[in-house]
Amino acid sequence: MKTDFNYHTHTALCGHAEGTMEEYIKSAIEGGIKSMGFSDHAPYVFPDGHESHFRVPSKKAKQYAEDLKELRKKYKSEIDIIIGFEMEYYPTHFEKMLKTVKDAGAEFLILGQHFLDDEIPESRAVLDESDDANRLRDYVSCIISAIESGVFTYIAHPDMMNFSGDDGAYNEEMRKICVASKKQGIPLEINFNGIRNNRIYPNDAFWKIAGEEQCPVTIGFDAHKASEAYDAESLKEAERIIKEYSLNYIGKPHIIFVNK
Ligand SMILES: [Zn+2]
Ligand SMILES: [Zn+2]
Repeated sequence: MKTDFNYHTHTALCGHAEGTMEEYIKSAIEGGIKSMGFSDHAPYVFPDGHESHFRVPSKKAKQYAEDLKELRKKYKSEIDIIIGFEMEYYPTHFEKMLKTVKDAGAEFLILGQHFLDDEIPESRAVLDESDDANRLRDYVSCIISAIESGVFTYIAHPDMMNFSGDDGAYNEEMRKICVASKKQGIPLEINFNGIRNNRIYPNDAFWKIAGEEQCPVTIGFDAHKASEAYDAESLKEAERIIKEYSLNYIGKPHIIFVNK
């Protein structure tokens, strides 16, 4: 399997990725990518003024977009670049976060739900194991609201939720994400950062349900290093999942532009 698109790319600005923006672009071109999206973690300032730590700092968000626009010009004969963010759906702060990223120059967004409870200091990461069915329900509710908001091009790692409780509850709740995805036509992403780092996602139990529901499925490299801006090795595992569960793989997702 090959791909000529990838809309999940980070930059060093989030503090846990490395390499220059230009190195990511060169690596993508070398791999054969024709459509590339930058989607670094969206800035998030808490009501008390402190900033969430794993994101583009709010004061650097405009510069992020400006720098990428310059690079887009420079490489326009080789690759199409769109500029956006990976953002959570936090019910209390959604409108504010959306305004922040639009003001910064976002053209598109992908959803990446890394926390619940609006990321209040006591909230735990979605990737932290939990058998709490309420947490599972909260997670599913955030994802569905995000799908229905109509601003997200796709849902990154929908299967990031690390639920160790009852399998029946998991299947029942997670199926709701697949049903909403199908109904709204918003794709779910097989995430390559999970593949590379042997994380709990991609989660076969989830993709089995996605196959049954035939919701649209795409892929994302989730590059945190320039060398990951093309990831041929992980493509093989994505291909296995697509075949094994007869997924409705749509390839390149339809981009939802938030600046028009
Ligand atoms: Zn990241
Ligand atoms: Zn990401």
